[in-house]
Amino acid sequence: MKINQAELIISAVSAKQYPEGGLPEIALAGRSNVGKSSFINKMINRKALARTSSKPGKTQTLNFYQLNESFYFVDVPGYGYAKVSKKEREAWGKMMEEYFVTRESLKATVLLIDSRHEPTKDDQVMYDFLKHYEIPVIVVATKIDKLSKSKKAKHLKIIKDVLELESEDHLVGFSAETAEGKEEAWRYVTSYIQS
Ligand code: GDP
Repeated sequence: MKINQAELIISAVSAKQYPEGGLPEIALAGRSNVGKSSFINKMINRKALARTSSKPGKTQTLNFYQLNESFYFVDVPGYGYAKVSKKEREAWGKMMEEYFVTRESLKATVLLIDSRHEPTKDDQVMYDFLKHYEIPVIVVATKIDKLSKSKKAKHLKIIKDVLELESEDHLVGFSAETAEGKEEAWRYVTSYIQS
């Protein structure tokens, strides 16, 4: 997809700040440092529209990026930092629930998983949470350029098995360095925007 317009509309902390207008939304979730900002920037051909994810202590926000005036990428704060307080975890959970459970324009979620490692417990919880609320999931296995050709298929299978992906879910190996998987990821994203 060619992106002609990309703009951060709002960094929201609560539902009353979400954009109005009902444009379809694709959420992006993943462990901190998984490569989420790099994924967004590569997908939309911008060097640094999505900043690297906020460090602990910074305000956690849902960042709504409007694209081509026709849909949004919603960047969800990363999870899995070791040094996050109970209070911060609770605030994160509340914000996630408020968005994922109530947002009608949410069409699908891109769940980013580091292709080099087994999905973590947090990744599994996130996947199960999305499935529980019947939100379609596109699993993007990031940093795939770091795996040798022979290891790629093996690691993708580990992700599929550990998360127990269902047949309707999609799995794409992706590299922000080489753009591998970019067209495939857009195909899935587009199918949900248009449905
Ligand atoms: P975020 O915290 O999930 O937003 O992660 P970032 O996008 O900031 O990426 C974290 C680190 O991984 C950075 O040093 C990136 O340069 C690196 N990275 C992200 N995507 C890729 C990729 O596809 N290939 C490689 N080799 N490195 C990547």
